[in-house]
Amino acid sequence: SFAEGPGVSPARTAALRAEAEALYLGTRPNTRAAAEAAAHLLDGVPMHWMVDWSTPVPLVIREAQGARLVDADGHGYDDFCLGDTASLFGHGPAPVAEALIAQARRGLATMLPSPDAAAVGDLLAARFGLPFWQIATTATDANRFALRAARAATGRPRILVFDGAYHGAVDEVFVEIGPDGRVRNRPALIGEPRDLTVLTRVVPFNDLDAVETALADNTVACAIAEPVMTNCAMVLPQPGFHEGLREITRRHGTLLLIDETHTLSTGPGGYTGAFGLHPDIFVVGKAIAGGVPAAVWGMSEEAAARFGAARRNRPDGHSGLGTTLSGSPLQLAALRATLEKVATEDAYAHMNRLADRMEAGLSQVLASAGLPWHVARCGARVEVVRAPAPLTDGRQAKGAHYPALEAAIHLALLVRGVLISPFHDMMLASPATGEDQVERLIEATRDVVRRLAG
Ligand code: PMP
Repeated sequence: SFAEGPGVSPARTAALRAEAEALYLGTRPNTRAAAEAAAHLLDGVPMHWMVDWSTPVPLVIREAQGARLVDADGHGYDDFCLGDTASLFGHGPAPVAEALIAQARRGLATMLPSPDAAAVGDLLAARFGLPFWQIATTATDANRFALRAARAATGRPRILVFDGAYHGAVDEVFVEIGPDGRVRNRPALIGEPRDLTVLTRVVPFNDLDAVETALADNTVACAIAEPVMTNCAMVLPQPGFHEGLREITRRHGTLLLIDETHTLSTGPGGYTGAFGLHPDIFVVGKAIAGGVPAAVWGMSEEAAARFGAARRNRPDGHSGLGTTLSGSPLQLAALRATLEKVATEDAYAHMNRLADRMEAGLSQVLASAGLPWHVARCGARVEVVRAPAPLTDGRQAKGAHYPALEAAIHLALLVRGVLISPFHDMMLASPATGEDQVERLIEATRDVVRRLAG
């Protein structure tokens, strides 16, 4: 059921929640006062999702450094959420902080390139393998622009997405396969009167036959995919899936957009670099500028040429792509510092070594508690999945999602000094994360799981 999850009773979930909630409220007077003081923010928060965390009142963070947080009441946390990947390389990496300070004195937003621009282009091309790049401000925007560019380049109207995927607040991607097997707008989507299924096709991840069928009429401009689905627990690609996806998209003239916003956790070149994918369009945001709002999208030679031809053919005026702050000197400085000095081979070696320990330690905790859950992994990204065997698609992932249980676990970890991502059980290892922090995560999880499983 909703509260239970396999292996856990609702009574134990409720008890864990109640105990954690009392401790949270009882030891955080400043946090509670801050919530009351924020009277002129909608729901008391700067972005309304912030009330959807597991906490009874929002946690207010006074300071974030490396992989440690301090809240308004002075409680410290080992941070494994890391801004849901925006701070994959730790909070405020020193080279980024220095670059930002220096750039702030030379200008933040000019709507013109800075001397860092050419270097950033070279760094992106060398790292991710595609020759032509653009800068956006969020991964959401990069995906939106890239999808439009793909439509312009191909002259086709439709896109293909995988059921259960998330690519940011990209309106037309919010479709799903309903319980009756029919596609529909996501039921939670508010303020969306359009039937998004008119131009968006949706198929299960790992289902190449469904991809073939969806692309058969050659009206699909672009297939957008995360290499590993990381937004509905974690769904790994089955052997041959990416090869098949590439072959089918190519055969039908559909551009393949690989969104590496989360799978940048895999290695310096993302999953694409580690596993030799060949996307036509590549998107990565969040951590790519060390926590500064920036995202990048890259194109193959051919995709760029076709997009270029489409732009030259249009009447004068705005293309509808790009925003004023995109490509700013601020972003370029942060991108350059991150790519040159932060997201290094050494950094990834450390992250992956810690993630090895997280995977092994958490797996052992689950096994010794006898819970039918498992740990999935994508480089420095580790996920506890509430199902006994690896998931293969979004439908299975939905079936392994227990919001009340997950919120109780998250709050119980939080009052033990460990922060993991909200909405599902994702944990990241950063270059700034220490081995002691990983051991504390494992021990806190052991304690919480013991209370749940008895
Ligand atoms: N792509 C993927 C795969 C994501 O997970 C997300 C955010 N979780 C985005 C794009 C959008 O990122 P942002 O919210 O920074 O625009």
